[in-house]
Amino acid sequence: MRTIGLVGGMSAESTLIYYRLINEGVSKRLGGHHSAEIVLWSVDFAEIEAFQRAGAWDKAGAELAAAARKLETVGAKAIVLCTNTMHVVAPAIVAAIRIPFLHIADATGIALKKAGCRRPLLLATRYTMEQEFYKGHLSAKHGIDAVVPDAEGRATVHDIIYTELVHGVVSPASRARYLGVVEQGAKAGADSVIFGCTEIGMLLSQDNVALPCFDTTVLHAGAAVEFALG
Ligand code: GLU
Repeated sequence: MRTIGLVGGMSAESTLIYYRLINEGVSKRLGGHHSAEIVLWSVDFAEIEAFQRAGAWDKAGAELAAAARKLETVGAKAIVLCTNTMHVVAPAIVAAIRIPFLHIADATGIALKKAGCRRPLLLATRYTMEQEFYKGHLSAKHGIDAVVPDAEGRATVHDIIYTELVHGVVSPASRARYLGVVEQGAKAGADSVIFGCTEIGMLLSQDNVALPCFDTTVLHAGAAVEFALG
């Protein structure tokens, strides 16, 4: 089994989900008492969140690249960055390591293509919805044209992530607001939904959303299991 290096803490809530899913995936594949070999570098999210608000992507990139390098040094054979948003600094991380970087938008793009979905609604932080690094990656590498909610919808999705989900707060009222955003997206022609923030699976699931759902946490953790057992 190959050791997975998780750069986590963004937030700690979703890193817990990665840890559980990767272990469950390995256990399911290998049976018995098997579990995943994982090294985790968990950052202080307050620092990263402040860099985000300040647009200090270089500083955030340097910190996350240093974390990935440390994981490589202690034996990680691939890096999994447990957040969509911070893939904005994926190039800085990739440049700092010699082991593979399992990009979250690759796991997502492959799943969308396999399901025949071409026009997903991307629910994510403002940074992910409004910058090009994520939609551009899906489009250039996978031929997927993601659409995003209107300004009001984007504010709703973003604010609930930072004021509730990263703190582990799951509220029925916020779920209803998310479902309203999804409904609008469907009316505007979206054929599927990307949970493009690693906490959204706490709030939405295929059970409460009518369109096909692509949970990036689940897909990314699945890619980690594939790599570990590859
Ligand atoms: N976990 C979230 C994401 O997947 C947001 C928190 C962060 O800014 O990293 O984008």
